[in-house]
Amino acid sequence: MTAVADDLLNAFAASGLPCRKLLEMIPTPLAIFAGNEAVFVNAAARVLMEAECVEDLLGLSPTAFVHPLDRAIVAKRMGNLEEGAHVNAPVAFRLLTCRGRVRPITTTSTRIAISGGYLIAVIATDDTKRFETEDRLRENEENFQKLFESTQDVYYRTDADGVVLKVGPAVRRVLGYEPEEIVGRRAEDYYPHPSEREPLKKALREYGQVQDFEGRMVRRDGVIIDISISTYALYDSAGQFLGVEGIYRDISDRKNLERELRRLATSDSLTGIANRRAFLEQATDSLRRAARYDKGLVLFIADLDHFKAVNDLYGHVAGDAVLKSFANAVALELRDTDLFGRLGGEEFGILLHEVRRKEAQNVAERIGDSTRGLRFVAADGHEYRVTVSIGATRNHRDDRGIERLLARADMALYAAKTAGRDCVRWSEP
Ligand code: GH3
Ligand code: MG
Ligand code: MG
Repeated sequence: MTAVADDLLNAFAASGLPCRKLLEMIPTPLAIFAGNEAVFVNAAARVLMEAECVEDLLGLSPTAFVHPLDRAIVAKRMGNLEEGAHVNAPVAFRLLTCRGRVRPITTTSTRIAISGGYLIAVIATDDTKRFETEDRLRENEENFQKLFESTQDVYYRTDADGVVLKVGPAVRRVLGYEPEEIVGRRAEDYYPHPSEREPLKKALREYGQVQDFEGRMVRRDGVIIDISISTYALYDSAGQFLGVEGIYRDISDRKNLERELRRLATSDSLTGIANRRAFLEQATDSLRRAARYDKGLVLFIADLDHFKAVNDLYGHVAGDAVLKSFANAVALELRDTDLFGRLGGEEFGILLHEVRRKEAQNVAERIGDSTRGLRFVAADGHEYRVTVSIGATRNHRDDRGIERLLARADMALYAAKTAGRDCVRWSEP
């Protein structure tokens, strides 16, 4: 047998093809068959077959290398070559090793003409690794699919133009749309304004990914919801941007709670206007900005006159009602940009932006007028009114903090009280 093989292989080598030694060394499993018998098996093929030595494999028929269930395919391919086909395209099947193990392989077989006949060369690649990877990928894919179907978060994937390629079923609950309605549309179509997606895009461009990025989306019913997005940019192997993939969730409940807590922490529970701390914080910001841009600010402290008497005569509840009415009346005299807060008790702070003293004086007088115009009725039908004293001051470039203005306004208020109340007094810096 070996002598025949040598003859054939020598002929093979003489035909200009690589010599036997080289064929033995190549890392690709190779077997050469003459007729129905293996006449040459290289080292890589021996390893693949888990044979003790090459001799164990010589003389075997092509089908002897193959799992019984795949023998028909191999026999057919051999038949093709015997009938004159030049080459069999790669095909995957199962190898049966000498130790009885099954291995996935892909083979190509070629008919090589030599003088006096032909040989069949079979080259194999071991697919074990690829199959393992594919199994893992498939498992990952299955896990992903489960996650995709069940998560409360909306999974989404867009292409490079921001067009949605895939979106999870959770989108029904979060936005009220069927996934099919969203695929093919642009992600920014679901924002209150397309520009609201810009910060996210910018962060993605800059960092490649974002975690818990907050934004807003519009539900099918028109309601704007708060969302949090975690997403990352996808690139192909050449570094070309492919789109983004990520999840978003509805965080409206949390944001509403946060807003409510912030409101509670910054507003006065009786009147609903800013509390002392919030007012002073905002006033401090305003003062800083005014100093930077050299703008005029005016601070008032407005204090109800003889308010203790209201409580004493009509009761605390009536006093509270007066405070609320006063706050509403003042708010009507102010612009949206002015600040208004309750500093404590029956004392209120008002900060006017970008005003001259004369305009501010007018505002203060209007506040005095409308306060005087408020009418209250006691339980016994008796009607009563209240008045307010206002201490006013302007900012000065040497004012380091809001305390300086508060102190001056307080001095002015004292002057208004001693001047007989129900009037406005100024304390110049
Ligand atoms: P003046 O004209 O000098 O300002 O006299 P006044 O009585 O307004 O000032 P005073 O500081 O003596 O009294 C303020 C009163 O305001 C005392 C307090 O009982 C009352 N007060 C403070 N906070 C509240 C409140 O939330 N509700 C009610 N009903 N009264 C309050
Ligand atoms: Mg008072
Ligand atoms: Mg007071």
